[in-house]
Amino acid sequence: MTKCVTCQIIREEFKPPGGILFQDQDVLLCHSIDVNIFGYLILSPTRHVENFNDMSLLEINKISLLSRLAINFFTLSFNNIDKYYICSFGEVTKHFHFHLFPRYKWMLKTDNIYVGDLIDGAKLFSKIRRESMVGISEDNVNKIKTVKLAFDEYLSKNFIV
Ligand SMILES: [Zn+2]
Repeated sequence: MTKCVTCQIIREEFKPPGGILFQDQDVLLCHSIDVNIFGYLILSPTRHVENFNDMSLLEINKISLLSRLAINFFTLSFNNIDKYYICSFGEVTKHFHFHLFPRYKWMLKTDNIYVGDLIDGAKLFSKIRRESMVGISEDNVNKIKTVKLAFDEYLSKNFIV
């Protein structure tokens, strides 16, 4: 059996904090399992593929649509989120995934994330993520559970493929 954490979530061998936010035969959306930043989402194809270009057009389309809806939902629901970063590296978890990383206003006070006057997004992501890799607090688990109900409702009206 593979040790891929994403596949373990799909096989229900591991429950992400607050539960799965969305899953069907093509896509999986969960909260980050170890970084305590509320709204930091991980979006993957359900099938174990390791590269963006290994995904089918259907998977790519659904991932695009779901990322748009998730970002809309979280930025509209939580007005302290300025914007979302979307990135993919695949260095730790090989199962292809996008990080949907919320940039909160408080993050802009972090040292060493600027180049001149400009925010270095990759530095911000890397630094905040490393500093917050402490497991998800009980408060945030409860917040995810609460948000899941509203998110389900939002998706039922908007997630049409
Ligand atoms: Zn996998």
